[in-house]
Amino acid sequence: DAKDRGRNGVRFFNQQMQADVSSRADIVNGLRLALAQQQFVLHFQPQLQRDAGVVGAEVLIRWQHPTEGMIAPAHFIPVAESSGQIQAIGRWVLQQSCHQLAEWARWPETANWYLAVNISARQLHSSGFVAEVSKVLQDSGARPQCLVLEITESQLLQDIDSVIAKMQQLTALGVRFSLDDFGTGYSSLSYLKRLPLRQLKIDRSFVRDILTDPNDKAIIKTILALGQSLELAVIAEGVETDDQYQKLLQLGCQQFQGYYFGKPESLDVFMKNCK
Ligand code: C2E
Ligand code: MG
Ligand code: MG
Ligand code: MG
Repeated sequence: DAKDRGRNGVRFFNQQMQADVSSRADIVNGLRLALAQQQFVLHFQPQLQRDAGVVGAEVLIRWQHPTEGMIAPAHFIPVAESSGQIQAIGRWVLQQSCHQLAEWARWPETANWYLAVNISARQLHSSGFVAEVSKVLQDSGARPQCLVLEITESQLLQDIDSVIAKMQQLTALGVRFSLDDFGTGYSSLSYLKRLPLRQLKIDRSFVRDILTDPNDKAIIKTILALGQSLELAVIAEGVETDDQYQKLLQLGCQQFQGYYFGKPESLDVFMKNCK
């Protein structure tokens, strides 16, 4: 939507572009070439720990379209999910991320940084997922402890037992899981206890109005308390202002991500900003 245009330097379809490429078939066709022609790029957004600065980054994909410019994931990930192309795209994201982790592992300043990679439902529910992640880890030499997989509550609505089994196998390798957009879905608290999660990620819709909406503040307090009693880390996403940050600190939040600390950027810019 027009309001979002230009954020993170990501261009959204305007009406002209919509006429050109936004039909589902056009996107599916475009995606077919995109991997082979290396049109995807990964951006990195810092994640910070109270008193420790940058401790890692979330990996966010963009599509550098040859004629349409930079396309945000909201415009192609859902299509790639329904067309099945997300499997190959998701594998590429994992490969690139693990490659980057292996590179960082060579330097003391970055050796402990982690990368948080968004995993789509289709990937998580595929039977080969555990084997795929462990192969990518092995091929790259990345430490599993530095890989965080972000999943969402909606992905837990079906096949919960098989998802838990996969999460347990990956946890045994050292991989960690974070529950993204937390609070917007339908997690039952009993599931939360059964899932081998390390982190809850407070959805940015609650952070946005934390200063003005008592309900949002109450929800954030509740999530922080839940994290404490289930021994899960809690990260707030979408922190845009110092006021929001101060309020979150005051409520006891320890981990942060958002434009206030850094927008998603190319690897080069991310690394420069971290210095
Ligand atoms: P998400 O995982 O919840 O990622 C956070 C989104 O919030 C990102 O949008 C990020 O740019 C944006 N964001 C970060 N900080 C702020 C802030 O302070 N204010 C505001 N307003 N927004 C902020 P982005 O990059 O457009 O990604 C959107 C969604 O696309 C992601 O939501 C994720 O669900 C999906 N996605 C991104 N990369 C991948 C990927 O490699 N694979 C899969 N399956 N999904 C991906
Ligand atoms: Mg995410
Ligand atoms: Mg999120
Ligand atoms: Mg989201």
